[in-house]
Amino acid sequence: MNNILVKNYNFHRHVLLEITKQCNLQCLHCFTEAGHSLAEELELDDWKLVLKDLIDNGFNAFTISGGEPLLVLKKIVPLVKYIKQLNSQIKVYIFTNGILLNRTNLHRFKKYVDGVGISIDGCKRTHDWLRRQDSSYVAAIDALSLLQVEKIPVFVQSMVTPQTLPYMEDVVNICIDKGVRAIRFSHVDFYGRAIKHKQTIGCDEKHLISLNSTLKRLKEKYNIYLTSNLVKKTELQKNKVLFTIPSLHILPNGYVLPWYGFPLKLALCKYPTETFSNLKKQVLDAKISAFKEIMENSQAYVSRSNMRNIIDYDNIVAHFFD
Ligand code: SF4
Repeated sequence: MNNILVKNYNFHRHVLLEITKQCNLQCLHCFTEAGHSLAEELELDDWKLVLKDLIDNGFNAFTISGGEPLLVLKKIVPLVKYIKQLNSQIKVYIFTNGILLNRTNLHRFKKYVDGVGISIDGCKRTHDWLRRQDSSYVAAIDALSLLQVEKIPVFVQSMVTPQTLPYMEDVVNICIDKGVRAIRFSHVDFYGRAIKHKQTIGCDEKHLISLNSTLKRLKEKYNIYLTSNLVKKTELQKNKVLFTIPSLHILPNGYVLPWYGFPLKLALCKYPTETFSNLKKQVLDAKISAFKEIMENSQAYVSRSNMRNIIDYDNIVAHFFD
């Protein structure tokens, strides 16, 4: 049974678990359009079934995200404990906006997680503006300080928009100061709420080129792992797997998407009624080849300067915890 999906279909090993749509922020760029819970979100026992099925199929790294996962601590604390009981080698990360992270909360899950992800989007002004809450930057920085004191490995996700682009180096400096291990700079993908704000926060070609050249300069200057969600198409041709292997995203109501932001009609299955372990091989074969065809032929992710969006969580996770 072990490794069936990961080995036979060449999936990314890492899975994003969107545990709830509920969030204490309503960010302009939110690709999942988080805010309120969905009417039918999976219960704790359903999530346990999801995890068992995915681990049985060879997945070995999970990021619990949302929405804001710390709003559902009652679910995530037993869940992370359950994962480590199943297999202590499985990597577990929690991705949060940091607002609810305090010592008491942290101590409830600290011993079961391998790291925490925090968002820092440019400077205080741009971060608070994108997140539509004045205190959100200070809360995120306080969260970084707490995680540093508690010696928990941290990676930062930083949103790149025309407004935050000038502050990439400031983000790197503050992260180095707080002992962060890795930073991922992502230009906004236009899914969810971000679609409504495309004109304001979307990067044009000039911005994308600047993102890439700034990243290159910062990589040379600083000793911290830096990456982005862009790669030159020429590089992709050398390493096509970066773009054409499925990277699972589980929605709060159990839909399993082969790639972040994909439409529901392209879902691979829906927990808890369908699992990978009971899905017929022919059905999965057809869905995976449809996914690969879309990714290979889609121009939606290609910029004029021939850069393509990628999802490289495996790389950040592999580097992060070496
Ligand atoms: S981007 Fe994150 S913090 Fe902001 S609304 Fe979406 S889930 Fe919440």
